[in-house]
Amino acid sequence: MRKIEMVDLKLQYQKIKTDIDLGIQEVLDSAAFIGGKPIKDFATELQNYLGVKHVIPCANGTDALQIAMMALDLQPGDEVICPSFTYFATVEVVALLKLTPVFIDVNPQTFNIEASEVEKAISPKTKAIVPVHLYGQCAEMEPLLALGRKHNIPVIEDNAQGIGGEYFFADGRKQKTGGMGLIGTTSFFPSKNLGCYGDGGAITTNDDALAEKLIMIANHGQRVRYYHDMIGVNSRLDTIQAAILRVKLKQLDHYIDARRSAAAYYDRAFANHKKITTPFRATNSKHVFHQYTLVVSEKRNELVEFLKEKNIPAMIYYPVTCHQQKAFHGKGKVVGDMKNTLWLSERVVSLPMHTELDEEQLRFITDAVLEFSQ
Ligand SMILES: *Cc1c(COP(=O)(O)O)cnc(C)c1O
Repeated sequence: MRKIEMVDLKLQYQKIKTDIDLGIQEVLDSAAFIGGKPIKDFATELQNYLGVKHVIPCANGTDALQIAMMALDLQPGDEVICPSFTYFATVEVVALLKLTPVFIDVNPQTFNIEASEVEKAISPKTKAIVPVHLYGQCAEMEPLLALGRKHNIPVIEDNAQGIGGEYFFADGRKQKTGGMGLIGTTSFFPSKNLGCYGDGGAITTNDDALAEKLIMIANHGQRVRYYHDMIGVNSRLDTIQAAILRVKLKQLDHYIDARRSAAAYYDRAFANHKKITTPFRATNSKHVFHQYTLVVSEKRNELVEFLKEKNIPAMIYYPVTCHQQKAFHGKGKVVGDMKNTLWLSERVVSLPMHTELDEEQLRFITDAVLEFSQ
């Protein structure tokens, strides 16, 4: 049996090596390492894939969030509602810009924030709502967008874990994640569903004026070179990474299918288990399984150790909730009792999830989990 990895990028690369190597070689030959055609081509191809008007590539997913928040012209002390049950970066940029993160609880089934909890946290200072499509599960967008419209508060989708996911509106409309809020942000970190071979990210929007502003902010606040209209940042996607992403974008749907069939295998193995809850399957969205995350009723840390001894990696995303992070001490507001967030952080465990898992590996992993959880 091949060694089980949390994410197997080596074997995935072997299968697309010819196209990747060619794409990189073309950039090397052109010596256009910053900007150029591969960046434009990738942005256009991702626009078409996501069904959004504008894709603005940038240096990473954290920058994408920061640039998105900068474009909203928020003032220090303005509040941004976000989950506490997410990766640190979602909230880090809020604090970095001297805005106040307002932490709310998540739904224990979907692991995502919901309109009902958001509404309780809205104040006159609320200037943005940030749902995170955690683990590849699309947040319940229709009520969130309706709430945003009602209070005139923009919704920013943190789509770093959700790219390729889809949401089905009540009227039958389908939309890919990242294209529903005023702004979407994503990451091309290597282990993400659409990952490059270094750092990368992108911002998405359907708003033309906002797109222009986002482009300027990502490029030192300039529209014309050396004429700076505002304070921005330097956040670019490398040309080599764009060439890699062009190849990998063509594979994204195939990669999502591979993740979904590994998830289906796990689901079957753990179905109706008394101590194990498998990921919730919403009927109105498509889960892209950035992570396959179980909720186990007991001995979660012992399970991780048990698997480790069998050379099966398993991870806890995330061991410390955001509102409990030392970095946010005194910087954020917590609304509600965070019951679900705290409960989940003690019970979640993510199993190996990637595009190259074969049946032998899946059987080995599920057998081990079942052996421990008898
Ligand atoms: C990975 C991730 C980010 C940050 O992306 P980077 O490219 O690593 O900066 C932000 N939010 C979420 C939910 C993520 O998973």
